[in-house]
Formats: sequence, structure tokens, C-alpha cells
Amino acid sequence: MIFSFERQDPALDIFLQALRDKGIDCEVQTRDRVVVRVFGCLDAQTEALANRSGGAPGSTPSPGADRSIDADFADAAAPVMIAGPCAIESEEQIEAVVDFLRRRNIRYIRGGAFKPRTSPDDFQGLGEQGLRIISASARPAGLKIVTEVMDRSQIEAVCRHADILQVGSRSMFNYTLLTALGSVDKPVLLKRGMAATVDEWLQAAEYVSRGGNDRIILCERGIRTFEPRCRNMLDIAAIAQVRHLSGYPVVADPSHAAGRRELVVPLALAAAAAGADGLMVELHPDPSTALSDREQALDFDQFDTLLKRLAGLRTAREGKA
Ligand code: PEP
Ligand code: MN
Repeated sequence: MIFSFERQDPALDIFLQALRDKGIDCEVQTRDRVVVRVFGCLDAQTEALANRSGGAPGSTPSPGADRSIDADFADAAAPVMIAGPCAIESEEQIEAVVDFLRRRNIRYIRGGAFKPRTSPDDFQGLGEQGLRIISASARPAGLKIVTEVMDRSQIEAVCRHADILQVGSRSMFNYTLLTALGSVDKPVLLKRGMAATVDEWLQAAEYVSRGGNDRIILCERGIRTFEPRCRNMLDIAAIAQVRHLSGYPVVADPSHAAGRRELVVPLALAAAAAGADGLMVELHPDPSTALSDREQALDFDQFDTLLKRLAGLRTAREGKA
């Protein structure tokens, strides 16, 4: 966000002090006016300090905080479903997914615009164009958007479009990113690092909460083990453990654990049975054409099978595991 002040405006010092107090980074440029570029989203109170000065031309306030998300994950009778492609690829792809989810009353769509790919030769995502594609299609349909932020410099753009900011497995140890997300007033879905212990994962969450944002959703997505037959090993015990230890909701991502679509449904059922508050599943209208994570994406029929099987499941959440 960018704020602009008269050079002598007393509100400028008050605003900068508030940013320092909250540990929010900014860049200040002084020309005819003073321009403050803030890295991260501001809470309403701090933003008001700048707006009171009559400044803020060119600022891009984030949409108001939406507390319904916290409620969804806190008291869902069944795991909250988040589904969508690994990467946002085109308008047609996203429209097909939005239409599919809407018809099934699923209210959270996922899709990466900034993709942390292991190889630099692989599809890196559509960036901001991808964010525009997903919000143009998902917002009018009433879907909430979950998308990854890989770097502090992307927070502003991602906040403009996303309802939940995902921190990927590769970024769980990025403490400057985590700290910056502490000043965002949106939930952060924090994936477990692929080689992170439960304690390291919880400490990563603490970087976000100490920054002032305790709207955290933990996401177990599998860890690396000696077993090569699945991409990662879904740590079912960790799901029950971190719910208990942290009090944060826990989402399981069976797709990145499985790596192969035939394992996604059984792992999703296991995670739900163990008490996951949500499930994040990769879904593609035509997985054979997916530009990333092709082997693990479910098609629409396979996803319907998952929904049917979940409906018949009694979970540990019923007994408040
Ligand atoms: C993803 O959700 O598409 C992703 C890259 O996941 P992870 O960070 O768990 O590998
Ligand atoms: Mn993926």
C-alpha cells in the first residue's frame, strides 16, 4: 500500500511511529510529498492514521476483514473443503472450477498465481494476471480465494485478491515473510515445511502471531521420509497433535502428500477421520493438461467420489479429538 503525505504533515510521524511499533516495514521517499510504501496490509486503525491526514492517493486498501472465515474453520461440522487447481492457468480453467464448486456449495477455491517450483524450467504461475483471473471469476460466485504468497513484495497484490494467504512448504522457514504476514488482517494458511518438525512448524506460526496476526490455519501437507512411493508422508498424528497443542484450526492437504491421484481420496478420508478442520485438494477440469502437479490432481468425477465418501464418515472431530 502506498500513502502520500504533505512534507510537514504531523500525521506522517504518528503513522511512521505506528508502523515501527507494529514492526511493519516500509520505504519512505521524500520529494514534493512524502510517499510511504508499506510492505504488508495494515489493520484498520493504522490505516486510519494515514487516511486522517487526507493523504493516501493511490492507496489500495484491502477489502475489509472477513471474520466469517475464522468461524467456518472453528465450528464446521464437517471439514471445510478448499479445492482448485495447483496453478491458475486460464480464465476457462478457473471458470470451470468455480462453476463446479458453486454447484456443490463449496465456498473456498485454491489456485496458485505465484508458484514455488522446484525447477526453474517449470511453469512459474501467471503472477498478478492469475490473481485477477481468479478473483474476476470466484468473487461474483461468492467463493473465497486461497492463494500463495512467496515473498514480502507480493503481499500487497495477494491481499488485494485473496481471502486466505497461503505460505507454502518451501517458505515455512522464511522468517521475514512470516513476520510481514503478522501485520496482515487476513488468515494465513501456514503449510508445514517438508522437513520441519511439529515444533518448528508451531514456532513458524509464532512469527506470524507475534507480529499481531493470530488468524492462522495450519496445513499438514506431508513430510519427506525414506519412502519414495508417495511424494510426501502425510503425518496423521501431527494433525491431531497440532490441533491440541496450538488451538489453531488444521487443514490437511492430501494432494501434495500423495503425489498420485489414486492416493488422494484415502488420505483425505484418513485426515478427516483424524480430526482435520479442513481439506485442501487439487482439482482440475482436465488433469492431463495441468501445467503443474498433473499426477495428483483429481478430475470432477473423482472429486465427487471424495465428497460422497466424506459424507459417510464419522470423524474424530465429533468427539472433539
Ligand atoms: C501448492 O499448494 O500448490 C504447493 C506448492 O504446496 P506445497 O507448498 O505444500 O508444496
Ligand atoms: Mn501443487
